[in-house]
Amino acid sequence: HGPESQEAIRIITTLRQAGFVALLAGGCVRDAMLGKQPKDYDVATDATPDAVRDVFGKKSTLAFGASFGVIGVLPQRDTKASTASSTESTIQPTEVATFRSDGEYSDGRRPDSVHFGDAKQDALRRDFTINGLFYDPHTDEVIDYVGGEADLQAERLRTIGNPADRFGEDKLRMLRAVRFATTLGFAIDPSTRDAIESFASQMNVVSGERIGAEMRRVFTSPSVVQGLRHLIDCKLDETVLPEISAVNLDQLAAKTNKLSNRSFAIVMACFLLQTDAPEQALAAIADRWKLSNEEVRQITAAILHYPVIGGADRLAWSVVQPILIDRDAETIIEVAEANSKSSDEAGIAIARRAMAMPRKELDPPPFLNGKDLKDLGIPAGPLYKSILQSIRDAQLDGKIHSRGEAITQAQQLSNSL
Ligand code: ATP
Ligand code: MG
Repeated sequence: HGPESQEAIRIITTLRQAGFVALLAGGCVRDAMLGKQPKDYDVATDATPDAVRDVFGKKSTLAFGASFGVIGVLPQRDTKASTASSTESTIQPTEVATFRSDGEYSDGRRPDSVHFGDAKQDALRRDFTINGLFYDPHTDEVIDYVGGEADLQAERLRTIGNPADRFGEDKLRMLRAVRFATTLGFAIDPSTRDAIESFASQMNVVSGERIGAEMRRVFTSPSVVQGLRHLIDCKLDETVLPEISAVNLDQLAAKTNKLSNRSFAIVMACFLLQTDAPEQALAAIADRWKLSNEEVRQITAAILHYPVIGGADRLAWSVVQPILIDRDAETIIEVAEANSKSSDEAGIAIARRAMAMPRKELDPPPFLNGKDLKDLGIPAGPLYKSILQSIRDAQLDGKIHSRGEAITQAQQLSNSL
């Protein structure tokens, strides 16, 4: 009953008062019935997109996907100043979709056209029975044209209608099936699974970004390894993630079960470390799924540097400390923990303690900078960098303790180099 659901109910009430049918639809009904917090609340209505814009006013609506009949309705401006800013600014526009049936699918991904219709037709065009439910907040009734309630009860993922027809229309649904089965912990109904297997080789008509978006949901699920087993079971692994063939899933499960943070980068790093050539595998996956530079940077940092954390009790502090002040330190440490042997425990404990230290202690200001070297009369040049680096290392390793000692060392270094 957060502000988003209140906002969706406000929109439904307004549409009803204007004489239309309006219901909560799809994922939010599913999640609420499972006792989960819905990500967003979608409204479905018999009002056409133009009628929706008339009811709320052009200025309060966005033509989101007008060709598919989806209008975004902006939160109402609250006239009472007290309640305004804080909640209002965080609410996204609510998607209001006109009941529709989809026309022919010729590209294997999207319908060529849509036809506005009634609630039952709208239920039947949806992908899975558990995603085909409506809820009427005014009568407190679930409206189920597709057997979705029974499948929610049975924890079963099943297409609405003939599975081969439904996957034939839209190939992305195959991966959505794996994603929902993974995140909800549901079984995939055998006939739905069989149909996925028969279309699996056509998964490549779906863009790499869309595949990546679904796979991010699988990788960040606590049941990631179960998700990878679904992928294999449906024969989607060869087109979606052939790298799986080199991975021992039991070992991966043992590792990911230790994680307390399941960001995509962390779980992907753990997965890649189970392959023969993690960096090559990362490059291939990043290219296919169009991973962001940020994701690639984090994953790379983790797979390259995690061994330093486990060895922190044996390695020079000047080797360990730069990893701990790296922006990706948390990711690296999580990956080190998941991949740790018993001999790494002391190192990980040291790293964790160091991360809890005040920043000034973990990363003390350097004794000298480039200007200091110049003032000492050391001729400027490429040597500055290596002199400053070795003084910094000596400082971190506790070999020098003051600016005076640093100056002495700088002079010795400049004479010897
Ligand atoms: P979540 O938002 O948690 O990913 P969701 O069920 O809301 O789950 P969305 O992708 O937001 O998923 O889609 C909203 C609804 O639209 C779904 O519940 C489903 O009814 C329908 N839908 C989405 N994608 C498809 C598709 N490819 N084919 C058929 N119906 C779909
Ligand atoms: Mg949704």
